[in-house]
Amino acid sequence: MKKILFLLLTLSSAIQAQSPIKALVGGTLIDGYGGKPLANSIILIKGERIKAIGQVGLMAIPPSAEIISTEGMSVMPGLWDMHVHLMINGHSDYTHWDKTYLKIAKDVIMPSSAHQLLMAGVTSARDLGAPLDASITVRDRISKGEIPGPTMYMSGPFIQHEAYSGTAEFRWGVKGEADARAKVKQLVKAGVNCIKLIDQDQMTEVEYMAVVDEAHKNNLKVVAHAHRPEEIRRGMKAGVDCFEHTGLAAAPEYPEDVMDMIKERTAKMNLGPLFWTPTVEGLYNFEYMRDNPERLDNTTWHLGLPDSVVKDIKQSIQHPSRLTYFGLNPLRKPTLQKKINQLKKAGVVLLIGTDSGIPMKFHSQSTWNELDVWVNEFGFDPMYTIRAATYWPAVAMGVEKDFGTIVEGKYADIICVKGDVLRHIDLLQEVDIVVKKGKRYK
Ligand SMILES: [Zn+2]
Repeated sequence: MKKILFLLLTLSSAIQAQSPIKALVGGTLIDGYGGKPLANSIILIKGERIKAIGQVGLMAIPPSAEIISTEGMSVMPGLWDMHVHLMINGHSDYTHWDKTYLKIAKDVIMPSSAHQLLMAGVTSARDLGAPLDASITVRDRISKGEIPGPTMYMSGPFIQHEAYSGTAEFRWGVKGEADARAKVKQLVKAGVNCIKLIDQDQMTEVEYMAVVDEAHKNNLKVVAHAHRPEEIRRGMKAGVDCFEHTGLAAAPEYPEDVMDMIKERTAKMNLGPLFWTPTVEGLYNFEYMRDNPERLDNTTWHLGLPDSVVKDIKQSIQHPSRLTYFGLNPLRKPTLQKKINQLKKAGVVLLIGTDSGIPMKFHSQSTWNELDVWVNEFGFDPMYTIRAATYWPAVAMGVEKDFGTIVEGKYADIICVKGDVLRHIDLLQEVDIVVKKGKRYK
């Protein structure tokens, strides 16, 4: 017993010696709770976690600390992106992409996407749809520190009525209740972080109810597509925890009966908040991207990708106006602001997420654009928007004890950007400092 204690003590002092204190000094701290920012802040980081928070002149900095100046910067929790697809990267032809690159998803594509997100200041992300083994492997390699990336929350394969042709590796069709439960159990056993349900309006009631019930029995949240009103109705009925998107069609608003269901749900305090990731920026910015394609020349999205893949992606998006993916965009775009405001007014907790990886949407650029559209196009309060990318995602994933805000004891996931992000949210496109679990990556 004594020997074990001695070993533990030696081990812990060895760890302490390896993890000297870092001090972020001078910047204005936005801690994620929504209160007034703290000027001239000091954040002491020891190992992976935040040790103390104070102000210049009021709190001592240990002489041995490594000082990182944040003078003139906004200091805030690392961003979360609640809807990414690591397995794709901006290419316009999914059939070609899957056929050509699915085999290198685990070793090349997904690690590259994750690295790009991290360098953009995204220290946590939720991936909603990818092959199971690759999802778990990439997430775990990141958490072991073998490859750089955000802390990942993985759904693994989509659960849906039937896999589209050629996608069986990352889309699992469900036939009957027993099959629905078995597939969810298989995902639980593999260690996914949530269940992604789509096309529930094409399933039988028994099937989609079983998917949600089995997930909840195993303490997993269910994240569901909400493109069609019937997907929302069924998702609400089954008790889905978080909805995604704002509709594929051009309907100008959510129907009244759907809004009534949502309001009834958000009134139930015992169920906690109803979360929704509207993912609007890809659609909202499409016409601007089409008319200003030189923005695609930014090379940040090449990080980690072989030249041949970069060339292939570039080729596929060289005529943005011809992309069928965005064909209905002129009709859809005007509906977004209306719908997102319907949800906001109904008491839904909105989350920042982007569908990063869809045509022309690169992991290195997507996330800040979503915040920018909320603030600069929809007129949302910048602090509200920042909390939708920090505090609330951590709550939605049930990890708010460790993530999402800057406070003593939590993981040191911190980004810093020159200037005042509460005045100019688009400063987030150029993050100056990225610290994840105490380690500086940028
Ligand atoms: Zn998606």
